[in-house]
Amino acid sequence: MKIDPRESLISAATHFYQKGWMVGTAGNLSARLSDGSFWITASGRPKGELTSQDFVRVDVEGKVLEKPNPNFLPSAETIIHQAIYQCFPKVKACYHVHSIEANLVSNFTEGNGLLLPPLEMLKGLGIWEENPWVEMPVFVNHLEVSKIAVEIGDRFLDSPPKVPALLIRNHGVTVWADSPESAYHYIELVEYIFRYMMAVRQVSM
Ligand SMILES: [Zn+2]
Repeated sequence: MKIDPRESLISAATHFYQKGWMVGTAGNLSARLSDGSFWITASGRPKGELTSQDFVRVDVEGKVLEKPNPNFLPSAETIIHQAIYQCFPKVKACYHVHSIEANLVSNFTEGNGLLLPPLEMLKGLGIWEENPWVEMPVFVNHLEVSKIAVEIGDRFLDSPPKVPALLIRNHGVTVWADSPESAYHYIELVEYIFRYMMAVRQVSM
């Protein structure tokens, strides 16, 4: 049986839009099927009112296999989803949002990794350590999206991150998981962590 994950993507996008994390058609969500292809939000569609027509199904090389609306193109950032699916064969969903918090914390470091606070919430991202020292990878927001994707692929094949999340500086956060439901939780968790980091800065100022 082939399960269509588009309903999960639609409800996640509606929620993220209401949170202000996918305004002005920003962000993109995808879910991979058992044949390796994945549904991804079509480019330029308002994320607060998606329907099952607002998706394009592509293969792992980015070739379009199916589009309910012939006028729609896959998200301009599809190539980043391809890089994530290629790096992590078990991953079934990849969510990317443009939140204010993600953009602010991406500037809390000039390096290529953001040290995360040792919060209990890290357990939700798979970190079961006392006083964990965990960095979230940070990438440069190149104008050419394919360049970002190449840098993600190169770095992760060499050294996979401890958390299933990455930041693109001044752009947004991307998470990946073994199901759309887990990817949804990961977005909520990283956003909580980002809000905490911003609150710490305000308290210490
Ligand atoms: Zn983006």
